[in-house]
Amino acid sequence: MLLYDSLTRQKVELPPPPGPIRMYVCGPTVYQRIHIGNARPYIVFLWLKRWLEEQGYEVKLVENITDINDKIYAAAAQRKTGSAELAAEATRWYIEDTDDLGLERPDVEPLATETISEIVALIEELVVRGLAYESGGDVYYRVAAFPDYGRLSGADPDEMVAQEPSDLKEDPRDFALWKATKAHEDTSWDSPWGKGRPGWHIECSAMAEKCFGPEFELHGGGLDLRFPHHENEIAQSQGAGRPFAHLWAHNGMLQLDQEKMSKSLGNIVSLREVLDQYGPEAILVYFLGAHWRSPIDYSDEAMEAAKGHAESFRNAFRVAAERKDAASWENFAAALDDDFNTPAALALLHEWRAAGRLDLLSRGLGLFGLSVLEAAEAPREVRGLADERARAREEGRFDDADNLRGRIEDEGWEVQDVAEGYRLIPRT
Ligand SMILES: [Zn+2]
Repeated sequence: MLLYDSLTRQKVELPPPPGPIRMYVCGPTVYQRIHIGNARPYIVFLWLKRWLEEQGYEVKLVENITDINDKIYAAAAQRKTGSAELAAEATRWYIEDTDDLGLERPDVEPLATETISEIVALIEELVVRGLAYESGGDVYYRVAAFPDYGRLSGADPDEMVAQEPSDLKEDPRDFALWKATKAHEDTSWDSPWGKGRPGWHIECSAMAEKCFGPEFELHGGGLDLRFPHHENEIAQSQGAGRPFAHLWAHNGMLQLDQEKMSKSLGNIVSLREVLDQYGPEAILVYFLGAHWRSPIDYSDEAMEAAKGHAESFRNAFRVAAERKDAASWENFAAALDDDFNTPAALALLHEWRAAGRLDLLSRGLGLFGLSVLEAAEAPREVRGLADERARAREEGRFDDADNLRGRIEDEGWEVQDVAEGYRLIPRT
């Protein structure tokens, strides 16, 4: 399988199955409901995991939750609540909203606040190596001491903008690993440099190592994280002698009116709002239609169109069509194996729908968490018959149950008994 690597700027071949493929993806900072753009890396990397597993890989996906951050302090002050309380509540919102996408969860979702001792230990190591220095209770990374700095983003270190200006830095390019507690901050941890809390970048270096050890196959996240966040992660981890990530995968940004969706621009549409308005299937089909590395435009028209596509798949299972020749599963696999080309895969799903190839369609939709379209709620009458049949079975009236099965089949549905009860599948 080929996947584009931001570091070497080319498609690279993944090791053969079963791998393993250890994936670390930067998750959200929790201080408000996540926006629809934040849902993209969550969806894309869970899909990639599902595809790799389908191909026989052993995959472990870690996606962190940033629960200490300047944004959280600021939002908590505005709401007149504690920052830890806000972070805990916003974490629940995040879990709730992403759960509703129906894709299952990453294997591990570590919290920054649960990784403090590993973070402090890593900073101490960087100080000993001369790559970091204490200044006024803060600790900064010494960018000039890491010659590879800038390789990922391709920027010339001398032309890089200062990261968070501060008089405490030796060099404006240096970035904070540890920040001394400020008067308005209501959480802090003890450290060799006094009370404080970690900077943002160090948590991912520490969490990736805590979950995977010193190296792993794939690091993912939004393209907006390539600089400075991921550049800084590499400086921290490789500076401390770890090989770190082999491949860097950056998903394209979601745009609203040609602009990146961000709190500072005030053009936020929350995942919750989109779920409530269009439902999870429309969201998944919407993201399928764009290549994961390309920007994607958000609009009501785009969501309506995606909803229409989802509906057309649903209809394919309701109306039995004559089976015609269509592209094979191998074509589908080839599209995904070439840099995970979901728009090409979506085109094949439509081809199978039109050709009445429900076997292939079902398998393909299931991969992207869209099996629900296949479970296409049967009409109310049919569900009523199935309920009646379940009762008959419970009460041991098996002749009645058989009769009801026949009536359900006459309506064009097949009833299957499963652990949770029954499942209705359109007859093909
Ligand atoms: Zn990160």
